[in-house]
Amino acid sequence: MSEHADLLVIGAGPGGYTAAFRAADLGRKVMLVDSRPTLGGVCLNVGCIPSKALLHVAGLIDNAAEGASHGVSFGAPQIDIDAVRKWKESVVSRLTGGLAGLAKRRKVATVQGTARFTGPHEVQVTTPDGSRRIGFDQAIIAVGSSPIWLPFLPDDPRIFDSTGALELKSVPPRLLILGGGIIGLEMAQVYHAMGSRITVAERMGQIIPGADADIVKPLMSRLKARYEAIHLETSVTAVAAGEVLTASLENANGMWQAEFDAVLVAVGRRPNGAELGAGTAGVTVTGHGFIPLDSQMRTGQKHIFAIGDVVGQPMLAHKATHEAKVAAEVACGHSAAFEPRCIPSVAYTDPEIAWAGLTETQAKAEGRKVKTATFPWAASGRALSMGRGEGLSKLVLDPDTGRILGAAIVGANAGELIASACHAIEMGSDAADLALTIHPHPTLSETLGFAAEAFEGTLTDL
Ligand SMILES: Cc1cc2nc3c(=O)[nH]c(=O)nc-3n(C[C@H](O)[C@H](O)[C@H](O)COP(=O)(O)OP(=O)(O)OC[C@H]3O[C@@H](n4cnc5c(N)ncnc54)[C@H](O)[C@@H]3O)c2cc1C
Repeated sequence: MSEHADLLVIGAGPGGYTAAFRAADLGRKVMLVDSRPTLGGVCLNVGCIPSKALLHVAGLIDNAAEGASHGVSFGAPQIDIDAVRKWKESVVSRLTGGLAGLAKRRKVATVQGTARFTGPHEVQVTTPDGSRRIGFDQAIIAVGSSPIWLPFLPDDPRIFDSTGALELKSVPPRLLILGGGIIGLEMAQVYHAMGSRITVAERMGQIIPGADADIVKPLMSRLKARYEAIHLETSVTAVAAGEVLTASLENANGMWQAEFDAVLVAVGRRPNGAELGAGTAGVTVTGHGFIPLDSQMRTGQKHIFAIGDVVGQPMLAHKATHEAKVAAEVACGHSAAFEPRCIPSVAYTDPEIAWAGLTETQAKAEGRKVKTATFPWAASGRALSMGRGEGLSKLVLDPDTGRILGAAIVGANAGELIASACHAIEMGSDAADLALTIHPHPTLSETLGFAAEAFEGTLTDL
């Protein structure tokens, strides 16, 4: 017999569970389907949260090592990899278990299984025990994305993606990371702290493509000093699996081979839109697997919405949750739209990199006239007292009105600090608004205020 939901949400990542909970709070009978046994999607199970738990451990190891230059020395760390893994898993299960409780409290029915559309108002869900047909009045597609795999890579347990890396099965002596983006470099930091020698191969001309070059520079300098090699404008064209893994690398200077004990593939993610049978429901999916939408998160079918990684870049959890609230509210008859002025991106590397709104690189590419104002952390008392004067806070401004169009930060806690810039951009603030806001001293947060003062011509700290 077929079941029925007012609102069916497919995928229980940050997009899906947020949409389900918001719609339930607005009075809907909601069903939430996910192929995984636990809620939380990629973010909680194999993404944001486990990576940050491991980065925290890496930070402990690195900070302890750096204590020596401040007069405090600890012995070499004793790393119990099983205990580290268990701790990471305990953080994940606490959060996913918490979500199950929140779903129950809202009477959101959860189903474990893989959904596929069989018509505009029905899906078939393949569950561990068989199959269920679920009818719906409205649906929200939140099926997320998967890691991109390179076709030339052999099937070998020593070659893994971010999900495999987070399992932390062992610490390979030599680790090659394909991709110098956020995920690749976060994992590099974890494995380096645990003892791996790291080589990064990145196809583009800089690591963290997307961030401005001056913001990436302090991170690049630090990593170059610590890692075996960072090869830019370099492709890995083959990996041969023998006693060791032999990778073929290629750049403008030629081709060479190098041996590794493990390879992490972190070359990006692809949306899961193509595997849903969405066409059967009349929902368009692009050749790349994305689902096109209007600003109310509606697909071409008025009663079917889509959110999160499957609808486009940037593939980030906080974009998914905000889109989710819009989709749920519109589905419940409210007036809402997804029209943010900025979506922040953060690399939780050391130093952290964060940016939001317009970057200088983007402005140049678009031929937009902008002015930038920076404050180097070498002049920040707080940064120096932490031994981290390499940071930089930067604003991208309209040269005529002083309006803040973008912000970027490299340095400790950049991911936390960028939030005040996001608020400024969202509120349409100009440099004077930020410069006249009294920031506490001595903090890293005041470096953004100082950058605004630099634009205003009122800076006295430099
Ligand atoms: C290692 C790593 C670290 C990351 N770190 C961060 C970070 O620090 N900050 C950040 O903002 N983002 C981070 N991300 C990205 C973030 O995880 C994603 O942007 C976010 O999870 C997207 O949410 P979503 O709801 O769109 O989908 P997902 O979280 O991908 O969830 C989709 C869910 O749908 C399920 N599903 C798919 N198809 C079906 C189907 N047919 N039927 C039923 N269920 C289905 C999947 O099993 C999955 O559970 C990270 C990603 C990775 C891999």
